[in-house]
Amino acid sequence: MIRQALDQLKHEIPLLDYLQAHHWQSTGRLSRGRWMGLCPLHEDHKPSFVVDTNKNLFYCYGCGRGGDVIRFAELFHQVRFPQALGLLCQWRGMAPLLHETTRLYIMQLEHHAEAVAYLHHRGVRSPELIEHMRIGYAPGGCLRGWLTQLGYSHHALHQAGLVTAAGYDAFTYRIVFPLENNLYGRSISATAPPHRFLPGSKGGLYSWDHVRRYPEVILVEGLFDYAVLWQAGFHNVTCAMGTQLNACQFRQLCDGMRTIYLAFDADTNGSGQRATQALAHRLREQRLRVCIVELPQGHDPNSWFANGADARQFQALLEAARS
Ligand SMILES: [Zn+2]
Repeated sequence: MIRQALDQLKHEIPLLDYLQAHHWQSTGRLSRGRWMGLCPLHEDHKPSFVVDTNKNLFYCYGCGRGGDVIRFAELFHQVRFPQALGLLCQWRGMAPLLHETTRLYIMQLEHHAEAVAYLHHRGVRSPELIEHMRIGYAPGGCLRGWLTQLGYSHHALHQAGLVTAAGYDAFTYRIVFPLENNLYGRSISATAPPHRFLPGSKGGLYSWDHVRRYPEVILVEGLFDYAVLWQAGFHNVTCAMGTQLNACQFRQLCDGMRTIYLAFDADTNGSGQRATQALAHRLREQRLRVCIVELPQGHDPNSWFANGADARQFQALLEAARS
């Protein structure tokens, strides 16, 4: 990439925006346009990371590293310069594209009875919840036309993973949940792989900005688990979209003193239980309080609620986990 294009990229991605999108928070202002906070690049206990929004540069007095947004992406994602450029270009281009895609899928939901029936079958009923999670439906065969009409090229859509090389929708017959910089699609057809994400990171913990202020947080595996708990009034719930937390998600859970309730699936083969134990161990090493929620055998929070359990019963599980 030539010098001019690099400057353009840096200009279009203010460092502070990029940091905040990766959950960095300032703890105070030093002077005009200069902010201080914990360093996201090393285990930092007192704020030593300075961001200068006038110069679009950062410097850490703890680990001694500094630079521009490209340097930050290299260090934060632990990639080389060309990969960092790729991530930044993708980040810059994805946000509006995902916004339009999500908008279309949300509009589709009410026109497809099979999608609504699937949600009911999974215990998802409340319009308030559907609006909160911005749940949509990808029927297939409509995305490319919609987005090209808005001016996106087939190449851009293919690169984002939204359509196949042949131009078909990548998400077809899927309930779609927008994530920070990705989409999760749950297939409602029995023949397709159940879970699908766009290429790239699944991002941080679901809805973390809302959840992080609670002293007690419930962590679940899947977005349908999240959905039924939120619907039942547990708004201190978050989701890792799997049992293996990525580095960003782990850092988020450890960014303050809190109690974490792990409510993963109670699989008959024991894999959910093993993942729970391993994560509990890692979190306790960070001096967090961890409580393990024991669901009835063979259930996850979603299947348990979909089978008629209620908030009072789940509350009893939380209380049992505490003791
Ligand atoms: Zn540092």
